[in-house]
Amino acid sequence: MRVRAVLICASDVRMYWDGHAGGVVPKEPISQGHEFSGEIVALGEGVTAPPVGTRVAVEPSWHCGECDMCLSGRTNICRNIVFPSFPPRNGALAEYIACPAHAVHPIPDSATFIEGALLEPLGVAVHAVRLAQVTREHSIAILGAGAIGVCTLLTAEQMGLERIAVVEPVEGRREWVKRRGVKVAASASELIDAGIEADIVFECAGESAAIEDALHLARPAGTVIVVGIPHPERISFEANISRRKELTIIFSRRSRDTLQEATELVASGRIDLSSIPVRCFTLDRTAEAIEATASRPGDMLRAAVIP
Ligand SMILES: [Zn+2]
Ligand SMILES: [Zn+2]
Repeated sequence: MRVRAVLICASDVRMYWDGHAGGVVPKEPISQGHEFSGEIVALGEGVTAPPVGTRVAVEPSWHCGECDMCLSGRTNICRNIVFPSFPPRNGALAEYIACPAHAVHPIPDSATFIEGALLEPLGVAVHAVRLAQVTREHSIAILGAGAIGVCTLLTAEQMGLERIAVVEPVEGRREWVKRRGVKVAASASELIDAGIEADIVFECAGESAAIEDALHLARPAGTVIVVGIPHPERISFEANISRRKELTIIFSRRSRDTLQEATELVASGRIDLSSIPVRCFTLDRTAEAIEATASRPGDMLRAAVIP
């Protein structure tokens, strides 16, 4: 593939600043970038895939298709998973990248390459919503209005959910949510004080404190789904909150064959990714793109590197 857009994710930032992410420490230098789109420029011998020239997005959980997890349909927790940007595979912050044919999905003609790359975080959200078994009757709360939180919001909205509340400390990001007519607060306690509780709480902030907030926001017998990668990696929370309410806590990992569904949601116009604010950088300014992401500005949910 000729890479046309790569978005910077929080896990890229962690790898860049901390030298590890999600419990993985690379032993050698490795390039980042797993949210990307581009054009097919060549096919391997005997490979069946969309023809050269096709504009595609990529599901980065490259699974083996043969282990017990794959055979039970849980391809995102494949025992032999390969994920570009985690050892041993370089990521997409490059001009070209080779991808397995099963991972590429043609993007709608109407979508830009940036929207094509946004299909990956949308696929992560679609997987989390599916894993939590959300229906339109549920009330939900979303902690964190970054790209994953916002994609979760867009997924829930198009399902017809009417009771959605969002918690986001950054003002500009709250404004974006407010413009959609969705209830938004700067902290979980603001919602709790207003008597709001949710059947299902999505933790999309990737912060240890947000997990405890999620437990407080969930109604008795509710569900908390952890979508962000907890930071720090060892987390603690008060067990009694969860025990008294008999909460279900679910951990969600990446996306599970959900790029196709994400693509259909965009192609049908049910989700408009063009509304997500993105700031563009050239490949030689990748470090600035990472720093911009780390500063969590109010007017940008993703930095895009355009190689
Ligand atoms: Zn990501
Ligand atoms: Zn497998």
